[in-house]
Formats: sequence, C-alpha cells, structure tokens
Amino acid sequence: MRRVILLICLVASILFFSIIQTINTKTYPQVYILQIIPIIILTYFYGIKTAYLLSVILSAFSLSFLAFGSTFFSVGIMIMILNAFPIISDRFYKNFKSYRKLENLRFENAVKAYGDLQKENDSINDINHRLDEKLIDMIGLYELTKELGSSIEFIELCKILSRILVKFFYAKKYKLITIKDDSGTSLIEKIYEISNSKYGDTESQQPSVSFLNEVQATQTDKQILDYIKNDGRSIVITDVKASVYYDKLKLPADISTFLAVPLIIENNPIAILVVENFLLKDIERFNILAGQLALELKKVRLYETVQELAITDSLTGCYNRRYFLERFDSELQRSFRHHVKLTFLMIDIDNFKSFNDQYGHLVGDYILGELGTIFKGNLREIDLVSRYGGEEFAIVLPETDKMGALLVAERIRQTVEMHMIKAYDEFVKVTVSIGISSFPEDTTHKQQLIDDADKALYSAKEGGRNKVIIFEN
Ligand code: GH3
Ligand code: MG
Ligand code: MG
Repeated sequence: MRRVILLICLVASILFFSIIQTINTKTYPQVYILQIIPIIILTYFYGIKTAYLLSVILSAFSLSFLAFGSTFFSVGIMIMILNAFPIISDRFYKNFKSYRKLENLRFENAVKAYGDLQKENDSINDINHRLDEKLIDMIGLYELTKELGSSIEFIELCKILSRILVKFFYAKKYKLITIKDDSGTSLIEKIYEISNSKYGDTESQQPSVSFLNEVQATQTDKQILDYIKNDGRSIVITDVKASVYYDKLKLPADISTFLAVPLIIENNPIAILVVENFLLKDIERFNILAGQLALELKKVRLYETVQELAITDSLTGCYNRRYFLERFDSELQRSFRHHVKLTFLMIDIDNFKSFNDQYGHLVGDYILGELGTIFKGNLREIDLVSRYGGEEFAIVLPETDKMGALLVAERIRQTVEMHMIKAYDEFVKVTVSIGISSFPEDTTHKQQLIDDADKALYSAKEGGRNKVIIFEN
C-alpha cells in the first residue's frame, strides 16, 4: 500500500512539474520523460499489465498538454515512449529475472558444492586426525617392539611383552602359549598369563600394572592349539556367545570377544597369543605385535639352543665337563656359605671297552645316551650330572651327606644293572661302578673331592665292579 501511495505521489509530482514546465516554456517538457520511471517501477513490482494501464492513463493525460502549447510531435513521441517502456522494461526484467534465477541456481550449486567440499574436508581432517593418532600409536608400538629385541631370555621377553600389552592395548586377559614339537606332535610347552591391574576400572588414576604368571594349560588352551595347528589362521571372535567356537573351544562365559593369533615362523606356529575381551580396533595392531613377537621368540629360542649346546654333551644330554666344573665350583661355595653338605659321585661303566669291541662303537654310543637318561631320571632338579670323560660320569648332589648319596648311588647302580638296553638290533645290559666323596668330611677342595671319588671308584673296580664304594681316609 505504501508503495502505491509513493508511486502515485511520484507520478503526480512529475506531472505537476511537467505542466509547470510546459506552461512556462511552451516547449517540449524535458521533465515529462521522467514519467517512464513509475512505469519501470510498476513493471517490476506489478507486471506488464498494470504498467500498461499507467502508460495508457499517462498517454491520455499527455494529450492534455496540447492545450498547454505542446506540439503534436513532442506529445506523439512521448506517447510512443510511454507505451514502449512497459514492453522494454518487462523484457529487461524477464531477462534480468531469468539471469538472476540462473545466478541463484549457480550460487546455490556453489554453496552446495562448498558444503560438500566442507564435509569432505571435515572427513579428510577426521581421517588425518585418526591417521595421526594411529601413526603416533604405531610409532609407540614400534618403539616398544624394538625393546622386545633387547631380550635374549624368554622370561625377559614375556616381561617386556606384558608391559607393551598393558600400555598399548586394552583387554581383560592375555596368554602367551608356547608350542614345542615332540617327535612331530605339537604340544603346549608353557603358558604365561598377563593381566592388567586397571582392567574394568577406568576411573582409577593409578598407572596400569601388568601381572605375569605361569599357568597350567586348560582344555580351552589345548583346543586352541589343535585348531591353530590344523587351520594355521587366527581365531577372531567378535561375539563369543553367538560364535560356533563358544562350545567347541569351551570359552569362558564371562567374555564377549576373543582372539588367538599364531606366532608363525617358516609356516609353523611356534606360539599363540590369546586375548580375552579385546577391542575390535586393535586387531591390526595385535597382528603387527604377533609378527614382531614371533621373530623375537625365534631369536630367544635360538639363543637358548646355543646356550644349551654350549653346556651340554650332545650324546648323553648331560652337562659337559667344562660347564659342570664351573657349576661344581659355585655349588661348593654355596655349601661353604650355608654350612651344608655336598656329595660327589664318580661313575664309570664296567668293561665298556669289551662292549665296544663286541657290538661296535655305535652301540657303545647308544649305551652312553641311555645311561645319561637313567642318571638324570634318578636325580633331583638341583643335582648336577655330567659326562666327565669318555665313559665316565660325574655327579654333584648338593645338600646331601654320604649316607644319602649312598642310597642314590645304589639306586642308580641297580637301575643300570636291571635295565635291558635295546641298541639297534642288540639287547645289552651293562653295569657301573661308583665312587663317593663328600664335602666337608673328606675335603673342602674340589679337585681333592674328585680325586677321592676316583680312588673310591678304583676300589670298586678292584673289588669286582658293579659296586658303590664310599671314600674313606
Ligand atoms: P673298566 O672301566 O671296567 O676298568 O673297563 P673299561 O673297558 O670300561 O675301561 P677303559 O677305561 O679301559 O675303557 C674305556 C672305553 O670306553 C674305551 C673306549 O673304547 C670307550 N669309550 C670312551 N668314550 C667313548 C665314546 O664316546 N663312545 C664309545 N662307544 N666308547 C667310548
Ligand atoms: Mg674309564
Ligand atoms: Mg670303564
């Protein structure tokens, strides 16, 4: 409404000035041309029809200017202009509007494209952020797995592993199951269980502490080994209760996710990393860790083998003489410190030369191996047994007096005597003679103990062999 009043005022003022101008000059009214302004405005706001109505009214009004002295020519030109302008401005507005529509459309598209770009940018930023986090995580994991390389002992490796697991992963419980090969059959060697002090306690401000314990194999552990041995792939269970493995593997009911990754060296699983209640996002990292751990475990095992080879006699599996003498020294020192007794046995196979002559050296070697097994089988973990010379064995029994040692020696002698050895196609029986000396009764010196036991052994041989003789001063 305000717009209409304004328009009428505009038209009226122009007409008023036009009339004044015409009366004063009697010539062509220059201000009259301004009449086209309301026509342009009207076309824009109310359309061509309304604009034409105004053109017609103004044209009719223009004729009245003839009465004020305007010429026919100027009035005629004016009427033409007035009637042409609704068409011109309508055309112009239409073009303008369609152009504006097009531009709007373009603008909207540009805005939409910008929005899409912004979204894409956000998602790239998000990916970048996650990649950054992953990278930082991976660098941390890499640094720690490098630390795995610093261990040459299995237990040390387990300790570092437990620190890595607790620091970089979140799970209820981990197990490292090592596998040994027993004449073609895979068996569980050891199981170390690792748990996190902070599991299930997100509020706690205390740093996470890892607990490492050696545990016994459960039915589940054995089933996992069987599965991995046959299939060779990891077991990944994201919903334990819904999984077919729940019953098969006899999984605990209080876990939701379960992972068992084999540590593979030359296509053979040498261990299995088991994880209860793991986070799905960690699968990839567990695989990386398992790969690295497999290499480190192999290194540790190689080191253990080299160590073992360096201290054991390959034929009998007993300690070699050099290592035995070293250990004998430290056992003696320990006996000194704790004021406890220690007994030394020297064992020699009777008439071994004749066995060799009769059956050959291969059979002789086999007998040596069998005797090594018999000796170890009749002794405690803390006793030291060695192949001291060709067919001589030396044994240290810590915390054992002469009488105790006599029982052990007799048991060994009798076991050997009773034992039928099947060497290749031969069945043979051997006997042994044993000399005994004791710390501190006989002497406090290592070499003297050896010499004394040797003397007792000589007496046993003299006395007819297959005997145990205690050294007496
Ligand atoms: P005894 O001790 O009862 O007096 O008689 P012996 O025949 O056992 O005594 P001797 O010390 O003369 O012989 C030891 C033999 O042990 C000599 C050697 O042929 C044999 N021998 C030593 N080392 C090995 C070995 O590594 N393998 C085999 N097969 N024989 C060995
Ligand atoms: Mg001998
Ligand atoms: Mg002999």
